[in-house]
Amino acid sequence: MIYKNSFTKRYSRIEKYRSPGQWIAVIGVGNIGGELCRQLIPLGFNLILIDNGYVDVENLGNQFFFEQDLGRPKVTARTDILRRINSGAHVLPVHADIAAVGAGLFAKCRLIFTCLDSWYTRTRVNTITRQLNIPLVDTGISNGGSGFGRVTLLDMRQKNGPCLFCSWDRNRVITVRQKENEQKESCGKRNRLELGAKQITTGSTNQPGFNGSLVAAVAAAKGLDMIYNQPTPGTSQEIIIDLQYNILKSYSIVRSQECVFPHQSWPVKTIGNPGKTTVQQLFDIAVSDLGTKHVTLSLFDKNFVSDICCENGHNQKDVFRVLETFPESQKKCACGAEFAASPLGTFNSFDLRQAIAFKGKTWAQTGLPKHDIVTASNGREKIHYII
Ligand SMILES: [Zn+2]
Ligand SMILES: [Zn+2]
Repeated sequence: MIYKNSFTKRYSRIEKYRSPGQWIAVIGVGNIGGELCRQLIPLGFNLILIDNGYVDVENLGNQFFFEQDLGRPKVTARTDILRRINSGAHVLPVHADIAAVGAGLFAKCRLIFTCLDSWYTRTRVNTITRQLNIPLVDTGISNGGSGFGRVTLLDMRQKNGPCLFCSWDRNRVITVRQKENEQKESCGKRNRLELGAKQITTGSTNQPGFNGSLVAAVAAAKGLDMIYNQPTPGTSQEIIIDLQYNILKSYSIVRSQECVFPHQSWPVKTIGNPGKTTVQQLFDIAVSDLGTKHVTLSLFDKNFVSDICCENGHNQKDVFRVLETFPESQKKCACGAEFAASPLGTFNSFDLRQAIAFKGKTWAQTGLPKHDIVTASNGREKIHYII
């Protein structure tokens, strides 16, 4: 009630930044991310928080959680703290790996902050923000120096702007994706792919909270500038902060034509209703929207698995489920061993002929998360559908 009655007064001293109703996503809500949320919520932003971690005792030393939060998912503990600061702003906690989250969830966001340990996870967010034209602010602090941090601002709304990996060479990107993405074990004589979202273990940030706050403050100030001011050339930049040498420097980042990530963006259309819309129905919609008979559908950074097998050679065919959201309860074979997918039985795109066995399934039945994206292509043009 206090909030409603004094709405205007509440935001009277931050007129430029007051933003009730606007959404921002913060991915990783530990040291930097936690402080960022604390800066954004008083401004009135609605926040989507994504983190698959739990509050551990060592997090009490540098991530501003309360002792009674121990053992809770970081996102729910963080949400409770933020709701006490501003009960009028919406906070949506998502306790999941980014691989299992529907990319379309971010479509309503004006800005995305990544506060992550994993470069592999950053490759996923990079694709999402580039394809949906959402400005990205990527942050990091180093375990090496004292007070060494980085804030990278990428205005993905710029047509020929750079992405987070434009400055990387091809081999480095491939190494990051392979190292953390692929886990190969033997399944008979074939390689096996683990079912479910790949759990990524990364090094922890051994830095006090004030270093996270420093980076978070720069990220918030410059990130909000990016959305409140018109994008201008040179908006995409990397800022380096090094307190040991009293350095605050920025470098502009440019688009590389050799970049391995797709830079072209396509129209986005919301379909909704994953529980009702079938695979066949999406083909029909895409055929009509793209104006051609032959259409290919692709999952957005996810895969379908058709065949699974256990190490004792038992097979299950025609599964047709999303690999990354494969249910825990169905991972065990009757013999007790874990099922895995073979690379041959996994695929990312398909036409109607290849979808014959599962075209009657709804998208929810395939395990596609809510708000995920399926991309339709006729070979020349594409449309991203949010399901
Ligand atoms: Zn790029
Ligand atoms: Zn078995």
